[in-house]
Formats: sequence, structure tokens, C-alpha cells
Amino acid sequence: MIHQLSVTLSPEHAYDDAAFREHVFQLLRLSTDSPAVVRKRRQSIDARGRQIRVHIDTEVFVNETPPPLIQYKKPQTNVSDSTSAPQAIVVGAGPAGLFAALRLIELGVKPIVLERGSDVRSRRRDLAAINKDHIVNPESNYCFGEGGAGTYSDGKLYTRSTKRGDVRRILEIFVAHGATDEILVDAHPHIGTNKLPNVVADLRQSILDAGGEVRFNTKVTDLILENNELKGVVTATGDELTGIGVILATGHSARDIFYLLQARKILIEAKPFAMGVRIEHQQSLIDQFQYHRPNRGDYLPAASYSLVTQTRFNGVERGVFSFCMCPGGFIVPAATAPGELVVNGMSPSRRDSKYANSGLVVAITDNDLKPYADEGPLAGLALQQDLERWACRMGGKSKDQPSQTAPAQLVADFVDGRVSSELLPTSYQPGLASVDMAEVLPDHIVQPLREGLRDFGRKMRGYLSNDGQVIGVESRTSSPVRIPRDRDTCEHVQVRRLFPCGEGAGYAGGIVSAAMDGERCAEQLVSLYK
Ligand code: FAD
Repeated sequence: MIHQLSVTLSPEHAYDDAAFREHVFQLLRLSTDSPAVVRKRRQSIDARGRQIRVHIDTEVFVNETPPPLIQYKKPQTNVSDSTSAPQAIVVGAGPAGLFAALRLIELGVKPIVLERGSDVRSRRRDLAAINKDHIVNPESNYCFGEGGAGTYSDGKLYTRSTKRGDVRRILEIFVAHGATDEILVDAHPHIGTNKLPNVVADLRQSILDAGGEVRFNTKVTDLILENNELKGVVTATGDELTGIGVILATGHSARDIFYLLQARKILIEAKPFAMGVRIEHQQSLIDQFQYHRPNRGDYLPAASYSLVTQTRFNGVERGVFSFCMCPGGFIVPAATAPGELVVNGMSPSRRDSKYANSGLVVAITDNDLKPYADEGPLAGLALQQDLERWACRMGGKSKDQPSQTAPAQLVADFVDGRVSSELLPTSYQPGLASVDMAEVLPDHIVQPLREGLRDFGRKMRGYLSNDGQVIGVESRTSSPVRIPRDRDTCEHVQVRRLFPCGEGAGYAGGIVSAAMDGERCAEQLVSLYK
């Protein structure tokens, strides 16, 4: 017999497996020695009231064998065993590229994955060089390398784009490759940066075990185009690789790819995006506000927040919103070229650092891009790059060589237009320099940010104070460019056999949506050309 019930408990009882099981047994009047299997299906925290409650949708199997937790099975076939298996090229080993490759295998196509960066293990050395020595390797960094931008991240796995694919399937694939099965249950699942590298390496192993290829340190620098049909790609070492189609999943930081497309006269378009700063507070301040208690105790997870408001600048309405909040996390230097400075955030699985950080960004309008009009569809990219270079110079003003020291200002000082005499301790390893952030960012970002912060300060006590600091610049929230494709077939609108995919192409905004888009592009490529 299967019982389905919704249970509401205090965090102390909900997160203690024995206490939770006992409670469920009592509700169903089961004897303590019953072999019943209790399974959580979905779990969410409700911290709106004074009493924090955890809601758990539960299934109990009495005298019944529960079905397997996950339906997904790693690929059973080996595409290299079949002489007739065609091959397809996947450019980029981020979530979009890896999930595209796995799906191609399931559909009987051999993927050749080409990744400009290093494997996860070697990538660690490059990250250490950025953090400690301020050296940015343009091929291997927080955005480039195995697993893409998602590897050294928070690994948040929630998405609003549930209509674009099967979220449960993506989560199951992560679980089959080593992620905790809690991600199938939590309303806001995340993996954590300490666990993601192993999960990513296991995804690669599945591709290799099934006969696919993954080549690291292999940068695509040109396209083999014949009569508006993409035959294959050329790598930096001059190798030519061909296939029945090319899935281009190079992410939003592969600026050279956007320039290549423009040079090869392949249609690209400007896309709305947002830029701003990262804001950092003590995690305890966020916990106190969200949980209405002096500290969160042993059971509650580090609290997160999501803030959004509308502001008006020069008569134009602009959204200001928090983005990619990392509770108990770290701010990281996410630039992809020397002389640029970009901040982003990540968290370990336990989210146990004492800091909370979040992007705080402002929508960029067409008007802001007027000075870059000569760049055509790459105007947003040019503004982004200008800001990143300027932030690098402002942060490293006192240094004699380019540094990853980030410009920063205390939050209330920023809003009041006062340079901070001292900054707070930070999770950002390369260090901070106190500057006037109004000199780092243009007015169309500074003024809406100030207005937004006033509003957020009213909504969350302590948020707008000198107990937090803003750190610049958060410029890579999403791609400023779209590579247009057919709505149904995912094929480029002009070039046959080219499948623009994932975040860089403008069809995803996070790990799960990128993974879903990878699967979708693989399916469309196979249905058109296999
Ligand atoms: P990417 O992950 O960017 O992958 C593109 C890959 O293509 C890269 O590995 C790159 O090296 C490779 N590539 C680029 N050019 C070439 C070339 N010419 N030749 C060969 N290879 C090339 N999202 C979430 O959902 N949750 C989070 O918690 C989260 N935290 C983040 C934290 C950080 C620090 C960062 C930087 C991002 C975070 N994101 C998060 C965003 C998320 O990582 C991206 O949305 C996602 O990775 C996009 O997937 P993608 O496969 O489309 O592109």
C-alpha cells in the first residue's frame, strides 16, 4: 500500500531523519518495527511567519517495493561499436555541451566534444593562479574549462524555464553522476562547488564509456562553411573536424566566437542584459532577517533572498534585481582575459562560509548602448568589456601591474556618494580597493542601483548599511548577444547544420536551462540529419 501525505514540521524535526520517520509512523499509526519505506518527494521551508515550518510531501510504502528513485540510466550502448554511427561536433563542455553529447549518444550519434579549457582537475591550478597571483589564463578560468561556467559555481539547480524541458530528467542525470539525491526533493536544490567537479568528471566519463570523444585544450577558431551549410570546425592547431551537425555551446563569455560569427557574416542579434555589482553581507545578518531569530541554529540552511524593484532614470523605467544569490558563499574573480575584472559568486555544498553574496544588477537599455552603435549587434559586448577593463584599472590603481583587486565601497557610503575610509573583511580572495563606485560604473547603472538599494533597505533591515559592501563589476549575468535559430528545429535561421545552444546563444540562463537546451539541440540535430 502507498500512502501520500503532506507533513509540516519544525526544522529540528524535519531535518532529523529519525524524528521525521517517527512522526510519519505516528501519523499513519504504524508500529515502530514496521519495514515501511518513507520517502520525501518535495521539501520547502516556509519562513514567512514567526514559526518556521518545513513542508514535506511524503510517500510511504507499506508492504510494497518502492520504485527506483531515478528512472534515468547511463547510456547502455557504445556508439563506437557501430560502424554506421555518424558523428556530430559539440563545441564547449559546459552544461549545454555535456548534456547535448550524452543525448546524442542516446540517439545513436557519436559526439566529438571540443573544449578550449582544461579538465576540471587542471583547471584548479588556473583558478589558484587568478586568486593568488592575479594571473588570468584566457583559456582556463572560472568560465572556461570542463563543466563550463557551472563547475566552480554555487550549483543552484532551480530554473524558471520549466516549459523548455524536463527538469526532473536533468536532476536525475546529475544524481546518476554523483550529485546527492536531495536535489530531487529540495524546492531550491543546489550541488555546491566542492562536489561539482566530480559530477562533471563523471559526466565526461559516461561520454567516453559510450564511445564519444572529449578533447580539452582544443579551441575552435574557424568554421567550415559551404553555401550556407556548416560542414565542421577548425581548431587553433589547424585541425579540421566534420560531422552531421555542429552544436555551438560556447557560453556567454566566448567573445571570440561572437566576433568570428560576425566576421563570417552569420546572423547574430543584440539581446537585453543587465550589469551591476556583487553585494556582500555577513550571512548571519541575512539569516536574522529571513528567519526572525538571533541565529539560524543547527538545522536551518543559510538563508537566501531574492529582491526586485522598478526604478526610473532619465525618464526611463529600469528593473533592478538581485541575481544568483550565494548563501554561505564566496565572491570569485570570473574574468576571462588579463586586464579585465569580473566578479561572480559560488558556494560549497554546506553553504557554511560566513558571507552571503548576490549580484545586484540593472537592466541595460538601447539608449545606454548608443555610444557603441558602430559595433552593431556587439554593442552590449563592447560596453561590458569597457566596464570590465575600467574596473580592473580602478581596482588595481595602486599596483604596478594588472591585478584582480576589485573596486569596492560600503553600501551606505555608495548610496550617499562617500568614499569608504575602510572596507569590511571579504570572501573575495584577490582583495578589495576602496574607490568611489560612481567612478567605476556609468550613471545609468549607479543611479538605479542607489534607488534600488533604498527600496531593498526598506524591505530588509540592515541591507542598506555599512555592514555590507558593493564590489564591482558583475557584468556577465547573461549573454548580450543572441544567435538566432528556428523556434522548432533549433537550427540557425540562415546556416544549415549549425545549432546555436545554451547560454551564449541566448537560450538559457543557468545550469539546468543550459542542460535542457543541450538535450533539445541534440534531439533536433538528430531528427533533421541522422
Ligand atoms: P558555459 O557553461 O559557459 O560553457 C561554455 C563552454 O564552452 C566553456 O567551457 C568554454 O570554455 C567553452 N568554449 C568557449 N569558446 C570555445 C571555443 N572557441 N572552442 C572550444 N570551447 C569553447 N548557474 C546556475 O544555474 N546556478 C548557479 O549557482 C550558478 N552559479 C554560477 C557561478 C559562477 C561563478 C558563474 C561564472 C556562473 C554561474 N552560473 C550559475 C551560470 C551557469 O554556470 C551558466 O548559466 C551555464 O554554465 C551556461 O552553460 P553553457 O553550457 O551554455 O555555457
